[in-house]
Parts: sequence; C-alpha cells; structure tokens
Amino acid sequence: MNAFEEAQEQLKRSLAIFPVGNQLRTRLTRAEREVTVSIPLTMDNGSTKVFEGYRVQYSNLRGPYKGGIRFHPDADINEVTALAFWMTFKCAVTNIPMGGGKGGITVNPRELSKGEVERLSRGWVRALAPVLGPERDVPAPDVNTTPEIMTWMADEYQKLTGDTRNATFTGKPIAQGGSEGRGVATGMGGFYVFEALRDVLKLPKTVSVVIQGMGNVGGNAAKIFHEHGHTILAMSDSKGGIYSAGGLEPEAVEKYKKENGSLEGFPGAEHISNEKLLELSCDVLVPAALENQITQKNAQSIKAKVVLELANGPTSTKADDILFRKGIAVVPDILANAGGVVVSTYEWEQNLKNEHWSEKDVLNKLRELLNRESKNVWELSVKLSTDLRRAAFALALERLEESLDAKIAK
Ligand code: GLU
Repeated sequence: MNAFEEAQEQLKRSLAIFPVGNQLRTRLTRAEREVTVSIPLTMDNGSTKVFEGYRVQYSNLRGPYKGGIRFHPDADINEVTALAFWMTFKCAVTNIPMGGGKGGITVNPRELSKGEVERLSRGWVRALAPVLGPERDVPAPDVNTTPEIMTWMADEYQKLTGDTRNATFTGKPIAQGGSEGRGVATGMGGFYVFEALRDVLKLPKTVSVVIQGMGNVGGNAAKIFHEHGHTILAMSDSKGGIYSAGGLEPEAVEKYKKENGSLEGFPGAEHISNEKLLELSCDVLVPAALENQITQKNAQSIKAKVVLELANGPTSTKADDILFRKGIAVVPDILANAGGVVVSTYEWEQNLKNEHWSEKDVLNKLRELLNRESKNVWELSVKLSTDLRRAAFALALERLEESLDAKIAK
C-alpha cells in the first residue's frame, strides 16, 4: 500500500468503531485541492532544470490549511496527499483552529548549492502564492526544510503580494518573526506526550530510548530525553546508526556528525543498521525519520515497550495489528509529533497580533495542551476499547464533524 492508501485504511478502521455522517466520511476520502507545479531553476552553471512542486489542501473544515513543505527525492503527489490528510487529523486532535495541508518538491537538496536551494524555494512560492495566505494556507518546515528556507519563502511571498503581516509561513527564525520554542517544538511535544502517558503505559520513571533519525525532530528529541535523565541507547541518520548499552551523549553525537558528515567511526559505540536499530530492546522506540519503517516484515521483531511516532506515518496498519497483539502500545504520529504544528499556530497567532511570547509561555501552553489531549485520547481508547491510533482519529473525527455540522443547513 502506498502512503495515501495506508492513511485511508487508518481512517476506515477508525470509522468502523467511531462512525460519522456520510457527508464527512465522503469528504475525507479526497483532498479539496491538489496542485502540481513546474519550478524552473537556473543552476549555478547557467543551465536550467525543472523541478516538480506540490501543495495539497486536504481540508479546511476547521481553519486555514496548515502543514509543512518537504524537499525529498521520493516526495510525490501521493505522499504529499497522505501527509496533508494526516495534518487534517493532527490539527483536529490538538484542537487548534487549522485545517490540513502539505507541500513538497521532488529534489535531493544535498545535490544543490545553497543559492540553488534558495532560488528553488522562492520558485515554489512564486508558483503557489495564489493559493497561500494567513487566512488560506500556512506552510512550515518539514523534512529537509529549515527556518532559513522559511525566511526566503516568507520574503518572496511578501514581495509578490505586499502582505507584510508575515503570517503566511511559520517555522521562521526568531529574528524573522518566528516563535520562541518552534525549533524544539516537535521533539519537545513528543516528550510532553510521553510524560502525559508514561504512567498509563506502565513505563518506568527513567526509560531507555532508541531514536531513528537525526533531523530537527530526532535530534531534539534525543537531547530532550537525555537532559531529563533518560538513556539514549541508539541514534541514527539516513545512512545508519550507533548503539551503546551505556547510553549516548546526543550533543557529542550531533557534533561528530557535523564534523564528519556521518556517524561512521563514532568512538565507543557499536555500528548498527537502521533495520537492526528498530529491533533493539528498549522502553521507547522513536521513529523520527520517514514513513513506512515498521511494517508487517519487521513488526514481529520489534522489542520496544512503546513506539512514540515522531515521524509521520512510520507504522503500517498491518504492523499496528502485530504490535497490538504483542502488547506494544503505539502513540500515534497525529498526537506524538503535533508539537510542531501547535507552536506553528502560536507563531501565526503572534504574527497576526504583532506579539512576541516568551519561550516559557509558549512551552507551558504547549505542555498543557498536549497533556490534556493525550489524556483525552487515552480515555477515549479505554472507552472504545481500542488502540491509541483509532482513539486519536476518533477524537479528531468528532471535532471535524462538529465543524461540518455547524456549516451545513439542517
Ligand atoms: N511539518 C510538521 C508536521 O508534519 C509541522 C507542520 C507545521 O508546523 O505546520 O507536523
């Protein structure tokens, strides 16, 4: 199954235990708008290449479309649609006033110079500006897109439209109108969700953690868990990982990767493939890279007590069933990694009101929100006797239905 089929399968399974009206059910099978554009890029050597870019606006039932932009060689309209679908549910399960969208470009940014990445980012905005805007669609970073890229995009949008509110892109650097706390928000949010559910998931006070992925999300999650006294058993990037039974120092691992370009040769740790890393014994396994990492092929070999999904769509539905039978709880992406979009929404709100909130205020608000919604999801899972993914979908469906009901004549 491709990513969008997986996403629809998750929806089907949730609807089976939490039925909603036909109108909502039917609407949720399709994106409201899918845009594919060609982005011509003048390369540094003077030649021209054309890249394919996307923006999928899945649902604005609850507010403007919201979601990141991914630069990746495997990004395509199907993947972006699945990601936009998940954003719809993520924003609903956290009860923020946003709908679901996602964007992307099929590109390996590592093969481009910095200037080429900037021109490509600006090209994406030129091609898609007519469908964006603070009340319409508010993009943000995702895989391989950074605060710096958001600055270029926000600048391009402002030049094109004259809109100086700076509320069309979130995840900007603080000096460019970004929010305190946005950089760490996804990793921090994952940690808050873990803390909210630790007791009901019967996890010990200090846990051993295995993290796949060292981008913004995996890197920050490693540091945050470590700072709170937990043991980071293993970390990895796209090329492979390292494992140390005594625990890793995430700061040192990140520094080594920066200096050497990979984790290869990291002293005092054992090398391990990304496949083997997922199968390590630990309390909390954190997939923080791409989709479809835990599948029916390896689910049986997973030895974690809990899977905390900081990536989007890392676990297939078939794997969900296998993990459930093994007694492994999966804290679903739409809850576990929602910290990013929640703080993005705080950023949008600050931009629109011309305010700047302190880091303490932002993170306190985030913790309170995630604590509340994590408990809501848990309680619903008990009430419906179901897993956390179905329960999170059910909570989102209830809120989506409320919004739809308010909008249609009866
Ligand atoms: N790309 C992130 C996600 O998948 C953040 C989206 C946002 O901040 O709008 O949730």
